[in-house]
Amino acid sequence: MAIILFFIGLWYASLFCQTFFQHRYAAHHAFSMTKSWERVFFVLSYIAQGSSYMSPRAYAIMHRMHHAYTDTEKDPHSPSFSKNIFSMMLHTRKVYVGIFKGTTELEPRFTKNLPEWPAFEKWANSTFSRLLWVAIYVAIFIFFAASPWLYLLLPIVIGMGAFHGGIINWFAHKYGYQNFKLKNTSNNLLHIDILMLGESYHNNHHKHPSSLNFGVKWHELDPIYPVIRFLAWAKVIKITKPVLVYSGK
Ligand SMILES: [Zn+2]
Ligand SMILES: [Zn+2]
Repeated sequence: MAIILFFIGLWYASLFCQTFFQHRYAAHHAFSMTKSWERVFFVLSYIAQGSSYMSPRAYAIMHRMHHAYTDTEKDPHSPSFSKNIFSMMLHTRKVYVGIFKGTTELEPRFTKNLPEWPAFEKWANSTFSRLLWVAIYVAIFIFFAASPWLYLLLPIVIGMGAFHGGIINWFAHKYGYQNFKLKNTSNNLLHIDILMLGESYHNNHHKHPSSLNFGVKWHELDPIYPVIRFLAWAKVIKITKPVLVYSGK
């Protein structure tokens, strides 16, 4: 039971950071925050994502490329150009590493208004840090796993951030329903999205990338939207006219 609770807690903590910080804030600037709060969310993302931590800067650049080049060969993760979800995830990783290491040439339009913290990023993305987190997860499983079957969850825990990305990038560009007719394959996966914290309203998202609320229809409840409103009320973030709206196509 402890492992199941740990898994569920990590699922939502990791996903919250991805959708709130890396995606809605870093990539789309749906809201703004001070440098100090930005650093708080850097650290929270690192703790929540551990071995699968993603640099908000590299994530944002890669994600803006996805919006600009959806379903083309230049899309960092398109099901149309990969045999299966795993080969797509491997390709995504290659693109991510290229951006992170600075070996990929980037168009200037993708590199504006990004959260930067080079020293922290260097540590958080290091192999040593990732292995340290793997060791912590393995220790937690050794202490708390009541059945060997629970170890099946371990690889998902280790690659949690990548799996969340992979699920949306693969399935929401293959299956689901559309509210908007767009020139791409984006779909809304679920009618009520508690599982992916609003991320599965992907067709809505491609239509309005920097919207605060990913839901459009009455039943499309985006659990992050009230959180954004609350954090704005608490003055942690500021809802402004987006500084940069990268919408792509
Ligand atoms: Zn997409
Ligand atoms: Zn997006």
